[in-house]
Amino acid sequence: MEIIQMLCPSSKWSLKAPYAMAPQGITIHNTANDASAKNEVSYMITNSSSTSFHYAVDDVRAVQGIPLDRNAWHAGDGRNGFGNRYTIGIEICYSKSGGDRFHTAERNAAELTARLMLQYGWGLDTIGTKVINTHQYRSGKYCPHRTLDEGIERFWNMVREEYGKLSGTSVPTPTPTPTPNPSDSYLVRVTTGALNIRAGAGTQYPITGQIRDKGTYTIVETQGNWGKLKSGAGWICLDYTSKSGESNPQPQPSQPTPQGHYVGETVTINGVYTTSQSTKKLTPAVKTGTITKIVNGAKNPYLLNNGNIGWVNDNCIVGGNSTPAPQPSVPASFSKGQRVTLKTSAQKYCTGQNIPNSIKGKQYTIMQVGSGNTHPDGVLLKEIMSWVYKSDVQ
Ligand SMILES: [Zn+2]
Repeated sequence: MEIIQMLCPSSKWSLKAPYAMAPQGITIHNTANDASAKNEVSYMITNSSSTSFHYAVDDVRAVQGIPLDRNAWHAGDGRNGFGNRYTIGIEICYSKSGGDRFHTAERNAAELTARLMLQYGWGLDTIGTKVINTHQYRSGKYCPHRTLDEGIERFWNMVREEYGKLSGTSVPTPTPTPTPNPSDSYLVRVTTGALNIRAGAGTQYPITGQIRDKGTYTIVETQGNWGKLKSGAGWICLDYTSKSGESNPQPQPSQPTPQGHYVGETVTINGVYTTSQSTKKLTPAVKTGTITKIVNGAKNPYLLNNGNIGWVNDNCIVGGNSTPAPQPSVPASFSKGQRVTLKTSAQKYCTGQNIPNSIKGKQYTIMQVGSGNTHPDGVLLKEIMSWVYKSDVQ
């Protein structure tokens, strides 16, 4: 899905977006007409009504009309209502007639919702609560009418799916595997003090447990360098084991963490803990930090910014450097997923709006590289959902 901005000029903020806002949630709407997202936003920013919203989404793209740090009038819960003052309003297009393009628009809106949830640290448990909910929930209006008609839980499930895809925490539908032949079983001895057990053969699967006793275990199935535990507890990475019975097990060259995170890596997080062993996940005030220490085996093994941000685990980390060696030179071209720093010298977004100083000099993830008619000289930065010039990032 493409995300573009057609921002309401600041001269009309007094009508459309009078208050500064730090978003605390999302409100879902249907437009109840058959206009495209571009037309919906174009109409919203040019008419003289105060009614406004942050995004309209159709089957092709999401169009942002109001900056996310301004409120919009969409929730019907009054001048000081939580919906109007603290939530991002998303309009799903083509709800009057419905059909395929509406269903694709719903899917795109689910993806946008999931992206914003990750950006602001709202977890899956916020769906259907005060944080992520419908216009109907905010003020009683039967909106999003068609999404409600067809089943709101169906839409929330789309959001959950998109969130899983984006965060890499989705559990792929397990493929049936043949009953392992007992003769394929073998024993391994764990050589690291803390070895994660995962739901499948790869680090993309969630952690389901941990082996900390350096004991000997029976592997009943092998996929690449992953072995399935006979106990049924899950899979372990065989790089951290030696075949039991080997008199001279290969010494492990180093002690990388299972996800490959490293000291000095800058990561984007959706949660934080106060200690390395805490189980109460908190919403972080700051969404990025640098790993300054790793305690292998801890519940939350990564210390961020010498403790100024807190401790996180693999489930908190939604993005990080992909290569251990930071590139000091300016890359000739950019690619999706790349981490870049917005230069402090940057002045304007591709849309012509001024870039506030507060977001300069920080790291962001490239969500889309401009081409063709879509900001060919720019890149879309995921964390701020904004297009900036390629010459302003490094
Ligand atoms: Zn509505």
